[in-house]
Amino acid sequence: MKRIIIFLLAFVAIFPIQAKPSYKGTVKPVIMIDAGHGGLDIGTKGRRPYCEEKRIALSTAILTKKYLDQLGYKCVLTRSTDVFLPLATRVKKANVARSSLFISLHYNHSPNATAHGIEIFYCDTKNSKKIAVASQRLASNVLQQVIKRTKAKSRGVKKGNFYVIRETKIPAVLLEGGFISNDNERTNLKNSQYIDKIARGIADGVDHYFKS
Ligand SMILES: [Zn+2]
Repeated sequence: MKRIIIFLLAFVAIFPIQAKPSYKGTVKPVIMIDAGHGGLDIGTKGRRPYCEEKRIALSTAILTKKYLDQLGYKCVLTRSTDVFLPLATRVKKANVARSSLFISLHYNHSPNATAHGIEIFYCDTKNSKKIAVASQRLASNVLQQVIKRTKAKSRGVKKGNFYVIRETKIPAVLLEGGFISNDNERTNLKNSQYIDKIARGIADGVDHYFKS
């Protein structure tokens, strides 16, 4: 009996019970999560507490992958370590992996220290109008769920012409998950439980995108 229990426990550990995926069809959508910056490119930074954008973006990406995997999606990261990746390499990775969605993760900076909140960008000048419309829908789903989890201020869905969201051939968004230049938000961003909320929100947003 004891052996059977040990066997069952090992089985559950190897094959964890997964939530039923929400997407339609049998092909798992591949979600490409892109942690902005990396290596020598720190991104923006702040002091007290000391905070680098590249590091928070990477922890958010790794946690987002965990939650997307749990929801039954296949999630690929453009970088999973602290390395520098040119923008063209990020786009190429997304296009080569035949991913379904591209989500780039960044944190914000403003000379105005009171600026705070979360915003998300999509590109409406992509070569396909259909993909631009899907990008906007992805943006609003992700932002809504991230705000729901974090209770941060929503700065809205915005149009942006950033290279990674313009050149990817799939629906793509760029999330600015909070201001490193704002004292309160920087303190939140140094808290792993807060980053966990952002990551869960992104995964929920992707799930809602496929459900709607
Ligand atoms: Zn950035």
